[in-house]
Amino acid sequence: MCICKSSYKSGKNGSVQLLFCGALFYLNYLCRLIMKKESKEQRDRLSPLAADLHRWYAENHRVLPWRGITDAYRIWISEIILQQTRVVQGFEYYNRFVARFPDVRSLAAADDDEVMKLWQGLGYYSRARNLLTAARQVVERFGGEFPTTYEGIRSLQGIGDYTAAAIASFAYGLPYAVVDGNVYRVLSRIYGIDVPIDTTEGKKLFASLADELLDRHDPGGYNQALMEFGALYCVPRSPRCGGCIFADRCMALATHRVETLPVKQGRTEVKPRYFNYFYVRHGGDTWVRRREGRDIWRNLYELPLIETAEEQSLELLQQSEAWEELFRGAGRVSVSSQVYGCKHVLSHRVIHARFYVVECEQAPEMRGYVRIEADRLGDYAVSRLTEGFLENLSVNYPSLF
Ligand code: SF4
Repeated sequence: MCICKSSYKSGKNGSVQLLFCGALFYLNYLCRLIMKKESKEQRDRLSPLAADLHRWYAENHRVLPWRGITDAYRIWISEIILQQTRVVQGFEYYNRFVARFPDVRSLAAADDDEVMKLWQGLGYYSRARNLLTAARQVVERFGGEFPTTYEGIRSLQGIGDYTAAAIASFAYGLPYAVVDGNVYRVLSRIYGIDVPIDTTEGKKLFASLADELLDRHDPGGYNQALMEFGALYCVPRSPRCGGCIFADRCMALATHRVETLPVKQGRTEVKPRYFNYFYVRHGGDTWVRRREGRDIWRNLYELPLIETAEEQSLELLQQSEAWEELFRGAGRVSVSSQVYGCKHVLSHRVIHARFYVVECEQAPEMRGYVRIEADRLGDYAVSRLTEGFLENLSVNYPSLF
């Protein structure tokens, strides 16, 4: 691939030259994508983009515990944790997780509740459930050895194209290009591609470009460098274009589209939900249940809940059938005013939550809930929302905690 090496110059001539070089860079890629007739030697040749990225990475990368290792299990754990989590937060979780479960067999043998508890606070709990399922698949289908082929890795629960490519290239040096949010951003900007990344066409185009640019001699190093560059330099807002190694060939910079690339077509509709939680007390006991079914927070524990279609006052809740059902057999109940409330934002939902404390004269039936000692509540894996309530309770109402 020919990449024009002119340097960035200010002024009209410099801008024209930059535009011209950027257009050449982009056209060159499109032609190759259409013709696809290069020889193996051409294909194996290191692109200037890859060479620059390797140099940049050697001087700028962060030192992290999952970097520079070839243990597929640990790479997998780090990749799953980092899918929806910032590195700073993921760091501690990763260390705790691999200290408790140092290999895939120990994770496969783990108690589900313990894994969920270890995951508490990270959110997106389906990741923890999938980790457990996949660890058990490794034991059952691969004799406890992490699969060493892309197809084998990709066949595990919760592992998609991106994670499979990351593990295959980092752990085994297999030639698979990763395409994550960082890669979409960097490539769309350097090449000035405005095809929406959340369409079939966009996904195919970027996968093809990423594969085209992949350094086949060091795919793991190249993939890490590209993602690190996106995470540190070509960030979503206010990227560091001033000192960027690609400033002389970045189409987005040349055409003033840095802030608008990459393009996304659709936005997911965010639906509101209204949760009314009750911290029910009788003697030293309280009640919880494990969430089941295809809904948020599956396998996490929660306090007795009445979900309503819209915001509802305590008075109306107390007149509802759901209340009757929950507190059957409770005798006289005394309900606090709302002790904690918040708007909890998830990817597709906004939870409007209210928490109340309810003292019961007798133990209510609480069908579907289990009775536990209130001071053992902290042993159960709960959502970040409920964790927030419990933290608030321990600070503001220590006698109830
Ligand atoms: S010049 Fe700016 S937008 Fe272009 S690759 Fe560099 S950091 Fe990203």
